[in-house]
Amino acid sequence: MAETATSTPGTKAQHYSFFQGVERNFDKASSFTRFEKGILEQIKACNSILQLKFPVRIGEKIEVIEAYRVQHSHHKLPCKGGIRYSMDVNQDEVMALASLMTYKCAIVNVPFGGAKGGIKINPKNYTPFELEKITRRYASELVKKNFIGPGIDVPAPDYGTGAREMSWIADTYASLKPGEVDALGCVTGKPITQGGVRGRTEATGLGVYYGVREVCNTKEDMKKLGLELGIEGKKVIVQGLGNVGFHAAKFFFDNGAIIVGLAEYEGGIYSEKGIDIYKVVEHRKATGSILDFPGVTNIKNSADTLEQECDILIPAALENVINAGNAARIKAKIIGEGANGPLTPDADEILHKKGAIVVPDMYLNAGGVTVSYFEWLKNLSHVRFGRMDKRFSENQNSLILQTVEGLTGKRANDTERTMILHGPDEADLVYSGLEDTMIGSYHEIRDILNSRDISDMRTAAFVCAIDKVGVSYEELGIFP
Ligand code: NAD
Repeated sequence: MAETATSTPGTKAQHYSFFQGVERNFDKASSFTRFEKGILEQIKACNSILQLKFPVRIGEKIEVIEAYRVQHSHHKLPCKGGIRYSMDVNQDEVMALASLMTYKCAIVNVPFGGAKGGIKINPKNYTPFELEKITRRYASELVKKNFIGPGIDVPAPDYGTGAREMSWIADTYASLKPGEVDALGCVTGKPITQGGVRGRTEATGLGVYYGVREVCNTKEDMKKLGLELGIEGKKVIVQGLGNVGFHAAKFFFDNGAIIVGLAEYEGGIYSEKGIDIYKVVEHRKATGSILDFPGVTNIKNSADTLEQECDILIPAALENVINAGNAARIKAKIIGEGANGPLTPDADEILHKKGAIVVPDMYLNAGGVTVSYFEWLKNLSHVRFGRMDKRFSENQNSLILQTVEGLTGKRANDTERTMILHGPDEADLVYSGLEDTMIGSYHEIRDILNSRDISDMRTAAFVCAIDKVGVSYEELGIFP
């Protein structure tokens, strides 16, 4: 699962680089903060940039591999951010993504600096054996340069990488640092059997759900939009049925929202009556497409699905899908950015003028990095969440239930018993920590929005991040 930063929403015609785009957003937001120029310059700058070229034998030939690791900010350590394998990897992109990780972590109070890594390869061109060689060599280069470690810099998966690559990195690191008891904390997104944490797979989609639910539970926001309070009965359209989109849709569906539309690359489907997300996934497995699912209207041009009637729109697939061309036709009152950069700046402006709430990616899809933080905590504490207290809680709950039953003379039914007696296991605690994070951060951003005359939530989220990183730098002082 990817641990990605927010890409700069920008049209293809933009005349500045990705990193410069991030700097522009930063500059816009920084005018709402109180920091002096020097501190702002320090926050913006990438602290350490590692550019690597290393040889790997592929078949009969030696290939020179280009790779990067950028640590954007050391105001909190370790640094944190994914590693992507893609032919598009370049220094500017890695710098931009590393800086966005700093801001994303700050927004959700994950105490890490931002980082990002990348290897310029197309993973599809290599066998698993070759990929393992490249990954291990990259990891050992990071060790040599002191760019990885549980207290230094902790990578995670991103495009083209997953739990398998994270396992290889953890093993390489542990081999080069024998006896380092916290070695597993050098990387997150590992399989559960290798120190991973339960709940990470669905974390980003679940975070999207918690964030949007909080918007719907906030009275003033719902009043402004002319919508009823609460998530139940809200009509939702989701674009992309991948990791983020599927899990977001699943949690909306499970909690009483009505999934009226789904868009995938093969087309879209719409039904006012609602679509069973589990059945659509089965249908797609069987037929290879979401189209022709019983009871829905097919939408040939997938992007048109975004323009259908709904309360909440979750673009969770690609960048720039809502732009100057279609933003005016978007009917949703809440747009929750599950993907990175699904709205262009033009679209942002148009939707803002229409009175919609755009919940920005930098906050809304931070569930992955939040749960990565929990995985890191688990690795450092060397114990599964819930192991020490689950049974204790169950015994306490049992005593309380017995006492209540004794006092009232009434017996709880089986469903009530199971619910009351249940002590928290790892997934429960991870979900609870994520829920608390998404709720708390939403209100932090909202308070900034309302107290500083800022008109959009994206700028408010940036301000929220700059405030926290700025205070950190101020308090650390400037080393003589
Ligand atoms: P994914 O590859 O699992 O899913 C993407 C889905 O979008 C796929 O099902 C794909 O078929 C679909 N899709 C592709 N083209 C489409 C089109 N034209 N119209 C509709 N659907 C289309 O990727 P993901 O991990 O779910 O990531 C989705 C977005 O969320 C990306 O922008 C990613 O950067 C961002 N993100 C992901 C995570 C994470 O934890 N996975 C975290 C933060 C941000």
